[in-house]
Amino acid sequence: MNTEFLIEVEGLKKHFPIRDGLFGQETGLLRAVDGVSFKIRQGSIFGLVGESGSGKTTVGRSLLGLYEQTAGRVKFRGVDLQSLTSKQLTALRPKMQLVFQDPYSSLNPRMRIGDAIGEAMLAHKLCSAAELRGKVDEVMKICGLSPQHYNRFPHEFSGGQRQRIGIARALILKPDFIIADEPISALDVSIQAQIINLFSDLRDDHGVTFLFISHDLGVVEHLCDDIAVMYLGQIVETAERDTLFRQPLHPYTRALLAAVPTLDPDSKPLAMAQGEIPDPSKPPAGCRYHTRCPQATERCRREIPQLRDVGEAGHRVACHLV
Ligand code: SF4
Repeated sequence: MNTEFLIEVEGLKKHFPIRDGLFGQETGLLRAVDGVSFKIRQGSIFGLVGESGSGKTTVGRSLLGLYEQTAGRVKFRGVDLQSLTSKQLTALRPKMQLVFQDPYSSLNPRMRIGDAIGEAMLAHKLCSAAELRGKVDEVMKICGLSPQHYNRFPHEFSGGQRQRIGIARALILKPDFIIADEPISALDVSIQAQIINLFSDLRDDHGVTFLFISHDLGVVEHLCDDIAVMYLGQIVETAERDTLFRQPLHPYTRALLAAVPTLDPDSKPLAMAQGEIPDPSKPPAGCRYHTRCPQATERCRREIPQLRDVGEAGHRVACHLV
C-alpha cells in the first residue's frame, strides 16, 4: 500500500453567503463544507460519500480552486495551493482534472469528439497540432473508444460512451489527480460496471489518483481504497474500504448501507435514516445527525462529537456512542 499522500486537506470550509431583499443583503450563511480534513494516498481511489446536500461536490470543486475556500488548506504533493501564484496554479491545472456527472452538458454539440478530447492539449500548449491526432487516438483507445469515431459528434454516442469521452478529455492531459463527481449515476446499471472498471484500470495501469464522489456506498465498495462519509458539510466516518464495510460504526454510515440492496440472506437489517437532510444554512446544534438518528440522546443535542480514532488504523468516527 502506498503511504505517500498526493492530496492533503486540512480544516477545509466553504460557506456561501445567502442574500435576500432588494439590495441583496447578506441574511445568512450556507455552510456547505464546514471543517473537513482527509488525505488521499498516491495512486488510490478515495470515495467521498453522502446524500445530496452533504457538501461533497463543494469539497471537490474547492480542491480544484473552482470555489474560493473560506478556510483551511489543500496541499498537492506537499505544496499548499494557496501559496502558489496564479501563474503557478495555471501550470498545475492540467495535473488536476474534473470528470462531470453529465459529460453531454460539457461537450460542445457542434464539435467533433476528437477535437473536443484534444482541445485542452492545444490550449495548454502541451503538443503541436501535428502531434495531436496521435495523442487523441491513444487516449481514445485507453478509454475504450474507437479512434475511427474521431469525427463523430456527441449526439452519436450513448451515455456510457459520452462518459468515456469525458474521461478521455481529462486523461489526455496526463493528470495525476482526477475528481470524478457522480460519474456513473446518470448511466444504466449495465454500463456503470464498465466505467467502474475503466477507473480501476486507470489507477492500476496509469497510476492516476482519484477522488470519487458518490451518493451510493454500494458503488464505492467495488472501486475505492479509502472512504469518507459526509453529512451536512462534515466528515462523520472515514476508514479503509474493508474496515468500513466490515465494521461501519456511525449511525449515518449504517443508514447509507441499509439503502444498499443485498443478496445475502444472513445480513442483519440496518436502521434507515429518518426524514430529510436538514437545511445546511441552519444545521442542528450538537451532533448534526441527531434529528434523524435513532440512537440520539440528550447529549447528542447539546455536544458536537469530534472525529476521533477508533479501532483499526485510519478508522475515525464522530459519534458520542462510539
Ligand atoms: Fe447519533 Fe448521537 Fe452519534 Fe450523533 S452523536 S450519530 S445523534 S448517537
